[in-house]
Amino acid sequence: MNCEDLLRLLVDYVAGELRVEHRHTVEVHMAGCERCRVVVQTYTHTVRLARQLPRCGPLPPEVEARLRRALEPVLNPPPPA
Ligand SMILES: [Zn+2]
Repeated sequence: MNCEDLLRLLVDYVAGELRVEHRHTVEVHMAGCERCRVVVQTYTHTVRLARQLPRCGPLPPEVEARLRRALEPVLNPPPPA
């Protein structure tokens, strides 16, 4: 496994959703790669902090409408011509 492989598995690893053998590969790589250790620690920390944030209330309607318009092409891309 190289650093790129680790980054691809990072989200699942931190969520605890990796299969045992993948988890082991990640841990072996981290043991020898300081950079990835820092990335995993930082990401874990960020996720933990984000989970502690209070849920936000409803958006003001005009903000929600603008957000939905902005996201529409991403969420529902037009079919290829
Ligand atoms: Zn690495």
